[in-house]
Amino acid sequence: MPDRPVRVRFAPSPTGYLHIGSARSALFNWLFARHSGGQFILRIEDTDQKRLVGDALDDFTAGLRWLGCQWDEGPLVGGEHGPYFQSQRLPIYRHWADWLVAHGHAYRCYCSEERLEQVRQQQTERKEQTGYDRHCRYLTPEQRAVHEAAGDPCVIRLAIEPLNGSTTFHDAIRGEITFEHSLLQDAVLLKSDGWPTYHLAAVVDDHLMEISHIMRSDEWLSSAPLGVLLYQAFGWEPPVWAHLPVILNPNGKGKMSKRHAVGADGKSIPVLLKDYIAGGYLPEAMVNFLANIGWSLDGSTEVFTPEQAMAAFAIADINPAPGAFPYDKLVWLNGVYIRQLEHDDLYQRLLPFVAQAMGMSVEAMAARPELRLATPLIQERIKTLAEAAPMLDFFFIDSLLDYPDPQMLIGEKMSAAQTVEALHGSAAALAALPDFDRESVEASLRALSDQLGLKIRQLLHVVRVALTGSKVSPPLFEAIVILGRQRTLARLAAAERVVGSQ
Ligand code: GLU
Ligand code: ZN
Repeated sequence: MPDRPVRVRFAPSPTGYLHIGSARSALFNWLFARHSGGQFILRIEDTDQKRLVGDALDDFTAGLRWLGCQWDEGPLVGGEHGPYFQSQRLPIYRHWADWLVAHGHAYRCYCSEERLEQVRQQQTERKEQTGYDRHCRYLTPEQRAVHEAAGDPCVIRLAIEPLNGSTTFHDAIRGEITFEHSLLQDAVLLKSDGWPTYHLAAVVDDHLMEISHIMRSDEWLSSAPLGVLLYQAFGWEPPVWAHLPVILNPNGKGKMSKRHAVGADGKSIPVLLKDYIAGGYLPEAMVNFLANIGWSLDGSTEVFTPEQAMAAFAIADINPAPGAFPYDKLVWLNGVYIRQLEHDDLYQRLLPFVAQAMGMSVEAMAARPELRLATPLIQERIKTLAEAAPMLDFFFIDSLLDYPDPQMLIGEKMSAAQTVEALHGSAAALAALPDFDRESVEASLRALSDQLGLKIRQLLHVVRVALTGSKVSPPLFEAIVILGRQRTLARLAAAERVVGSQ
């Protein structure tokens, strides 16, 4: 293995937002760079100008930073190997494409679309494999001169050599890989409009950016032969290749696609990192989760920090077998991490989620006491940050609740009259308390349930629905204190009126 400084890259194309599988590729590269004391480079492969998505770059940078995968060189941070956008490197690709032509490793092809289509048709009729027939590879200098004099548009193609040989390279995850040249095309390297194809641009950049290890998704394995041959043609020191295993749908059926994925229960799950961020996952849970797809800390530890992963990470330990995306594990892990947070930390993370769900600004939410006080009540009950708002919304409705289903207010095995009595009695008991704290609230409601001959569960059900509009809520005595005496009494009275008028 070449002893050179570790430099790895994540090279997304801004044709869509950051996919959860690409996030894993980025994370593995970052872990490896940090493990090795090397550099992690972000390069934007924006050569497909027709399919650009305007805010994809912001999505990549925000997503990587959210994960904690800060890049050492690239957009926003600069570096000595820029520019880091392929669209700003066209003269470099042109130079190296011309160099390959001058050295006999590539050639200009003047074939028109019509001719290529004709060739395809004939090959199909003869039931041969379709592909470029290398017509222009064997043009005489005179024939080329005619095309050049006429100013015919041309592409530059790689001349696969030798045509009948084979090449073997080592993949750090998969081992020896041999490919037959007879199956390869004289692929286009530079298009007639001067833009490079992926094959040329990636190799030129990887070399000029001194990339030591190319760790990328398995879908690029079929491009590796051209990469290997290009490195040879240029006479450049090749990188270590490593193709990451495919990620399957959580149900184990088929590759997780760019657009959607299917959970174990057959329902679709998000595929974009931004949707997981918006869904209330914690970055530490996501990093832990992604690191566990195709790699593991020690084969048994499931919960670990990025620092632990960094210290232990080795490419050779990556499992080449396709692995399912264990979505349920992510939900579980996220709950684990949420439970480990300090109250104030969790509160800070909940703020934007609850504010947004309540249609409030973060400042307005932070100016109120309820969320901070209620955070400990729900910490054990939520698996994502997004789950908090529906549990706490009743704190932030300042008008009276409207009870769309008044029937819900009636207690279990209780009449409407008993329910009115329970509501009235609760209001009176709570109004009379000298101190409105948890212990007093609990004691007074327990005493009332005895007095009314109700089980405490029955009374609390009535009070809970009256105060929260829902049959489930955070622990009720605490919630009553947070809601405050005034709003509590007003809601109990309103519920009493609704049930009484039935
Ligand atoms: N631009 C390619 C992509 O979007 C990068 C492939 C590579 O890492 O070489 O996946
Ligand atoms: Zn041609």
